[in-house]
Amino acid sequence: MNRRSALKALAVLGGLGLGVGASFRVDAKGRPNLVSLPDAFDEVDHFGITHQVRDGVAFRIPEPSLRKDIVIVGGGISGLTALYRLGEYDCLLVEKEDAFGGNSRRRQSRGIYYPLGALVSQGPVFPFIDFFRELDVPFEPVLGSRLAYHVRGRLVEDPLAEDGWRHLPFSRREREGFRRVRDDLAALRHPIDGIFFPRADNRADVRRLDRITLSRYIADKGYPEAVSHFLKLMLSSRLGETGEDVSAWIALYLLSNLPAPAYTLPGGHGAISEILRERCEAIRPNALMTGFTAIRVENRPDGKVWVTGCADDGSLQTIEARCAVMAVPKVFTKHAVVGLREERPEVYDRFRYNAYLVAQVELSRRVAPAFETASASRFSRFIVAADWLLGNRDPQGSSHLTVYVPYPGSAGRIELFGGSARQLAARIVADLNAILPRSRGAIETVRLHRWGHPMVGCTPGMDDVLNAAKQPFGNIVFAHSDSFGITGLYSAVWTGMEASSDARIVLEDI
Ligand SMILES: Cc1cc2nc3c(=O)[nH]c(=O)nc-3n(C[C@H](O)[C@H](O)[C@H](O)COP(=O)(O)OP(=O)(O)OC[C@H]3O[C@@H](n4cnc5c(N)ncnc54)[C@H](O)[C@@H]3O)c2cc1C
Repeated sequence: MNRRSALKALAVLGGLGLGVGASFRVDAKGRPNLVSLPDAFDEVDHFGITHQVRDGVAFRIPEPSLRKDIVIVGGGISGLTALYRLGEYDCLLVEKEDAFGGNSRRRQSRGIYYPLGALVSQGPVFPFIDFFRELDVPFEPVLGSRLAYHVRGRLVEDPLAEDGWRHLPFSRREREGFRRVRDDLAALRHPIDGIFFPRADNRADVRRLDRITLSRYIADKGYPEAVSHFLKLMLSSRLGETGEDVSAWIALYLLSNLPAPAYTLPGGHGAISEILRERCEAIRPNALMTGFTAIRVENRPDGKVWVTGCADDGSLQTIEARCAVMAVPKVFTKHAVVGLREERPEVYDRFRYNAYLVAQVELSRRVAPAFETASASRFSRFIVAADWLLGNRDPQGSSHLTVYVPYPGSAGRIELFGGSARQLAARIVADLNAILPRSRGAIETVRLHRWGHPMVGCTPGMDDVLNAAKQPFGNIVFAHSDSFGITGLYSAVWTGMEASSDARIVLEDI
């Protein structure tokens, strides 16, 4: 069938109404190919009730109908970690969605697990080695090509690997810049002279990187523009923003891991949430509740805390506890915890967040040259092959790509939440066809999720703000990865552990 007759056939199909919810494309050989595009977003994070709290809607607060030692608000990795560490108490964890894991959730289709959000880390590193060993988390190293860089119409595999920079379509000076940045990032991984947590233990000159932005650092280093663009692009994959406002310390802490081994699991970190949930259920059955959106958390005059929430059917319930753990983003905590903003003006409003669009793309065959593909200029910036792990493949040969597009700042969030699902999906299909030529004719369906506040912004000098934000407030203590300045697996676990210690202090009245 030639291109013209293919288009004619498609016009007939469209006339029969078979084109509803689909976009017709013609592959490189002129064959028709039907891509199923969404009419709406497949929302995985629901804000209806939390936005009412933000907007100051008054709720009628009922008397407590349940009493607990501890109520944990939020069932992401930080809340689940807190629950896991507080198993000896009578705890209840409440989660607004119908599943646990927050930004670390996964789903499965055609035998392939894929991530809704988080997926990659450095594996079981210090100081989390014992924690992940205890949970028996089966991290797998990303084998084969880890990163392909799509730039100037070319796909270059592993540009930071030993010889990868030599293949970049740049001038000799620019390629040398890539070699230099690779060596500089490797030096930053030195266990004593490099960059590591906690920042207080870093050398003074490394600590000072927190006073400048990544952009300033890049300018001081004199890296060529091509290198600067690459670093900012890769930072935006990890944080959702590019480096103009980001602390150089935070940025380099993340970027220094680029040439290091990466680890993932089938479907990414959703696998870890599931392990944590199972462990919590085994220790304390009935301590986990879904479909309960906390709307108000209040220190009472008698030393108790009231946590009021809204169930899916709209009914309100108050739980009385000796302590509450807020394992939800500060952007919500500041509205829900009574008196918090008034007590700590200037703290919680300093938190900035970056939104994300995530696309799930099903294909008839495997098309990706690397685990992650980053595009220098296309809208679809980061493409991850969910089935890169050998044990996470469809025996029939179909495959799955997850596409991540950051939308920085509040302007980005407004743009994302005003966008048309169909148009965004069509744009992603066009990008994939351009970036990964093997995807032409292979894309079958596209689904889209939107994340409103997953990534916290990290301006220089945020440390004081972060420390102030996580100080216990009466009998309310704070988890959530945003307390750490970087939202990631380790910060979620770390803040969950810190909050469990704070909760223990409250309960034991130490
Ligand atoms: C697209 C995307 C990609 C990412 N990629 C990576 C990655 O590759 N590696 C990495 O390390 N990290 C990544 N992250 C960061 C990820 O956010 C963290 O790794 C981690 O999952 C955060 O866990 P948390 O518990 O701190 O927060 P969250 O995951 O935000 O958990 C908060 C929980 O609280 C619930 N909640 C909110 N409000 C209420 C309420 N009022 N009442 C009850 N429950 C409520 C939410 O539904 C959610 O379950 C990514 C995130 C996203 C969105």
